[in-house]
Amino acid sequence: MKPVHESLAMPRESDPASFSPSRPCRLADVESFDFETDVIVIGFGAAGASAAIGAATEGAQVTLLEVASGNGGTSSMAGGDIYLGGNGGTPAQRANGFEDDTEDFYRYMMMAGGPDADEARTRLYADNALDHYTWLVDQGVPYRTTHLPGKVQAPGTGDCLIWSGSEIAYPFNQHAKPCPRGHLPEVVGEMGGRLLVDTLAARVTDLGVEIHYDARAVALIADGESRVHGVVVRIAGEHRFARARNGVILCAGGFVLNEAMMRQHAPHAARLAPDSLSAGNDDGSGIRMGQSVGGAAIHMDELFLTLPIYPPESHVKGILINEAGQRFTNEDAYPGRVAVHCARQVGNRVFLLVDAGIFEQPSEFSRIEIAAVGESWQEIEREIGMVEGTLVNTVRVHNQYAAKGEDPLFHKTSEWLKPLDEPPFAALACHLGEAFYPFFTLGGLSVKPTGEVLTADSDVIPGLYAAGRTCCGLPRSAEGYSSGMSLGDCTFFGRMAGAAAARKT
Ligand SMILES: Cc1cc2nc3c(=O)[nH]c(=O)nc-3n(C[C@H](O)[C@H](O)[C@H](O)COP(=O)(O)OP(=O)(O)OC[C@H]3O[C@@H](n4cnc5c(N)ncnc54)[C@H](O)[C@@H]3O)c2cc1C
Repeated sequence: MKPVHESLAMPRESDPASFSPSRPCRLADVESFDFETDVIVIGFGAAGASAAIGAATEGAQVTLLEVASGNGGTSSMAGGDIYLGGNGGTPAQRANGFEDDTEDFYRYMMMAGGPDADEARTRLYADNALDHYTWLVDQGVPYRTTHLPGKVQAPGTGDCLIWSGSEIAYPFNQHAKPCPRGHLPEVVGEMGGRLLVDTLAARVTDLGVEIHYDARAVALIADGESRVHGVVVRIAGEHRFARARNGVILCAGGFVLNEAMMRQHAPHAARLAPDSLSAGNDDGSGIRMGQSVGGAAIHMDELFLTLPIYPPESHVKGILINEAGQRFTNEDAYPGRVAVHCARQVGNRVFLLVDAGIFEQPSEFSRIEIAAVGESWQEIEREIGMVEGTLVNTVRVHNQYAAKGEDPLFHKTSEWLKPLDEPPFAALACHLGEAFYPFFTLGGLSVKPTGEVLTADSDVIPGLYAAGRTCCGLPRSAEGYSSGMSLGDCTFFGRMAGAAAARKT
């Protein structure tokens, strides 16, 4: 274990205003602690609430610090979708005839995790996702057993089970039997995340967790060996020193609002309009605190990113082309995967081609505009200024195979294949920097499944844990992200981190 570097540590007689998440406060500089507890949780979103419950149920004394004036964080803005299944299926899966095998669930999650999928983490989650469903229900999260088929996103109807990823799409359908796994809580409107956090927060209160709002964690307190002993927290303008006998759990969200970190780690986001998804405090402070004591941050360039080409669902039968007039992806995958492929094209102009048979007005929030309408594809090609023959040939090849229910280039499933041959035709502008491509960060601290934070040498930093988007968890590949994976990871591994900190593992 490397010692805290002297230059990073707080000078002995320092100005308190200079406390920073990027510099640990030396234990030796703390004259006395203002409060003391077993486990300190920083952040009261889904991960923090679950961590607090996990620690308190193990009998630990828990203190929760939240910079905002209330609970929720970005979790409270979410649709509340949680990715669950395996072990034969959840009640909603079984009620709708889906028998979800754990190995299919595991294989899908491993593919979704990308080339550096975390095997141990994925195995633990796949084996225990059904138990996690039961845990959520035990905390009071209500679920129906209804299923909405087709392509839906946060429908806000109170129904439960949806296809929330790329399960049916290539290449996932080649390796794992598809099954819908998005589980939405029973609430009408789009506030599933609010309901989820409120339910978990009620449990946190019942368990006697001490909660401080308007309390910003500004620096970790560590000794010369990088063992974490507590946190410097600013409450009502005063710096207080809080000691955690067992450990500190960082659940402070991601870094999508930290411009310097975004420029450094995810500069490709600059191609997008400023549509970051955050409740306002994803400033990377949790990640920086972890790094300040030697924590490694991994996959910091990976963003969840999406392009709502549906609703309307019929537009999935359209084809996406880049500014060279070439197709580049199977449009029936989860829109997050589709968006990543859009963002990888040379040039910012991306068009969705549709015909009269499938056209509906794009949803207003998608900011997808009609760029051209014409009676022939030649007319569309000219109108959007493409090199003669490029778009026309792409549509010709697509139509030729779609008529036979085939897509030899990108393997779109036959259900979503249709020749685009019914005039009038249209090109819809899905341009980077103009259309709605909302995003948040997936990279963060490297952790064990117990939440223990690791150094670049994979050493555990004693006394330090992380969960949720402060760490790099199950969802770590933009191409594989499926709706429900972030909250699934936050709640399940939040629990694990809480329990591990309580047991001081
Ligand atoms: C519109 C929208 C819809 C979404 N829908 C879904 C969905 O259906 N399913 C899904 O899986 N994911 C969804 N997501 C993503 C998901 O909501 C987030 O990735 C997840 O909630 C992150 O949870 P968290 O606990 O890590 O962070 P947060 O919920 O943001 O909690 C972190 C907390 O830490 C606090 N904090 C930050 N810094 C400090 C500090 N220094 N000191 C003290 N407190 C601090 C913050 O104020 C915040 O309350 C959605 C996101 C959005 C915006």
